Amino acid sequence: MRVAILSDAHANLDALQAVFADITQQKIERTVFLGDAVGYGSEPNACVELVAKVCDTTLLGNHDSAALGWESPTNFNELARSSILWTRDALTANCRATLAGFGMQDKLENIFLTHASPRAPHLWEYVLTIDDATEQFEHFDEPVMFIGHSHIPAVFRQDEDGVVSHRVVTEARFDDGRRYIVNVGSIGQPRDQDPRACYVTFDTDTRLLRYHRVAYDVSRAQERIAMAGLPRALAERLAVGR
Ligand code: ZN
Repeated sequence: MRVAILSDAHANLDALQAVFADITQQKIERTVFLGDAVGYGSEPNACVELVAKVCDTTLLGNHDSAALGWESPTNFNELARSSILWTRDALTANCRATLAGFGMQDKLENIFLTHASPRAPHLWEYVLTIDDATEQFEHFDEPVMFIGHSHIPAVFRQDEDGVVSHRVVTEARFDDGRRYIVNVGSIGQPRDQDPRACYVTFDTDTRLLRYHRVAYDVSRAQERIAMAGLPRALAERLAVGR
């Protein structure tokens, strides 16, 4: 089965539409969203509606949870916090209900899926280093899992002897006997210095992973952020992918 896996749209409708248009060019049988439909960007309602309409699996992120008022954004930095407060006001009752139906984790064949970390999906831990990944491999049984959250594409591989390595790739074929944690990057706010929207496709039969980068109209997204009265820094970072 060919699956598209995407994460962290962050209310960036221009990026999200470009990614969905790109996905229709691939032969995809299942589309998975790993969370953070909202936060930072100016189009939370349209993004929640589109994700819910297009994706077969929809998971919740930390910004979604904070926007629903399920947790306070006290751990968020100033920019994230102000955009969450803005998002709480902006979300319609319908979209709140839709978002509240997004799950915390899921399984697809023998792939594990969650927004942040397998150990405790609700704690929103980051998996950034080999040490982080080595710990997290202990907390799921499947050979492959996909996460988002850091907005930084990465493949962590655990060999049969338990040794974990970290790679940034555009394509990889997964081996039997090894295990993988894949960070799919971010649609709406990439942070790896490449401003193009990022998502992956994975073929569960051939075990081929592919990263896709999609250029979109960044200046349009920036204008929308300015018009919404959100902090200018949230628009500026989109141009540099940070
Ligand atoms: Zn995020």
